[in-house]
Amino acid sequence: MNRHALDELKQQIPLLKYLQAHDWRQARPIGFGRFLGVCPLHADHQPSFLVDPNKNLFYCYGCRRGGDVIRFAELYHQVKFPQALELLCQWRGLAPLVHEAANCYRMQLHRHPEAVAYLFQRGVRSLELVEHMRIGYAPGGCLRGWLTQLGYSRQALRQAGLVTAAGYDTYSHRIVFPLDGNLYGRSLSAAVSPHRFLPGAKGGLYLWDQVQQCPQVILVEGLFDYAVVWQAGFHNVTCSLGTNLNARQFRQLCDGPRTVYLTFDADSNGSGQQAAQSLARRLSEQGVNVVMVTLPNGHDPNSFFLQGGDAHQFQKLLEVAHP
Ligand SMILES: [Zn+2]
Repeated sequence: MNRHALDELKQQIPLLKYLQAHDWRQARPIGFGRFLGVCPLHADHQPSFLVDPNKNLFYCYGCRRGGDVIRFAELYHQVKFPQALELLCQWRGLAPLVHEAANCYRMQLHRHPEAVAYLFQRGVRSLELVEHMRIGYAPGGCLRGWLTQLGYSRQALRQAGLVTAAGYDTYSHRIVFPLDGNLYGRSLSAAVSPHRFLPGAKGGLYLWDQVQQCPQVILVEGLFDYAVVWQAGFHNVTCSLGTNLNARQFRQLCDGPRTVYLTFDADSNGSGQQAAQSLARRLSEQGVNVVMVTLPNGHDPNSFFLQGGDAHQFQKLLEVAHP
C-alpha cells in the first residue's frame, strides 16, 4: 500500500469512530475538540487516553503509547503493521455489506415455512423476538444476485465470505443472526456443521450496548439460549457465542461495576461448568462480582425453557445462585 492509499485509509476510518466501534467511551471533553477516556490498551482506572479527532491521533499518559488509527489497530489487536492494515480495510468494507446481507436474509425468513417451523421448535415464538434479534433465513441461491444488483462486486462478496470461490452463497438452509460485523448461521439440517461464521472476529458480547448499563447481567453461551431468556422477559441478558470469551468480550464485562450471572450449559461431562468456573475466577480477579447459576443437570437455558421451565422458575434459579 503506497503513501496515498494509506492516507486515504486513515481518512476513511476516523479514529474516534473506530474507537467507538470498539466500545471506547469518552469520559470528558478537554478543550480544542479533544477527549479523554479510559485507555483500551492497558488496565486503566482513571481516564488517561487522549483522542484528538481533528488530527486523528491518540496518546495515552498511562502506557505512553500513541499514534494514528493504524498504530491503534496494531496495539489493540496485537498484530503487526500489514495485518493491522488488512483488518482496517476489512472493517471499512465489511460493515455495509454484512448489513445488506442481513436485510436480504430477513426478507427471506417469512417466505420459508421450514425456517419458521425450526425457530418455533427451538423456542423462538414471538414476532417481537424475531424483530429484536433481526433473525433471518438463508435459503441459499439468492444472496449473490441480490447484492450484485445493489452494486457489490463478486470479489467483495467473496472477500467477506458471503459467497464461495465457486460463486455460490456460503450460507444455505441456515437461520441467520446478525452480529457486530459478522453473521452467525445455524443450519436446519443435522447433516452439515451446525455453526458457521463469516471469516473474522465474532465481535463483542451480543447486543452489549443494550445491557451495558444494567447493574446485573445474565451471560449465556448460545443465541438460542439468549432468545428464550429474553423472550421470558429477562432483557438484561447477553451472549458470548461459546464458552471461550475473546479479549474484547472479557473487557466489556469488566468495564464497570456489575454482577454477572454466569448461565452456561450444565453439560453432563462438566466442560460447561469448568469453563464457567475458570471465567468466574478471571472476572473476580478484575473486581467483577460473579454469580454461578446452576441449571438442572444436562440442561442449557434453551432446553430449560423448552421443557416447561418458566420465568418464575428461572428467577428462582438466579436467586439461589451462589458466588
Ligand atoms: Zn494506556
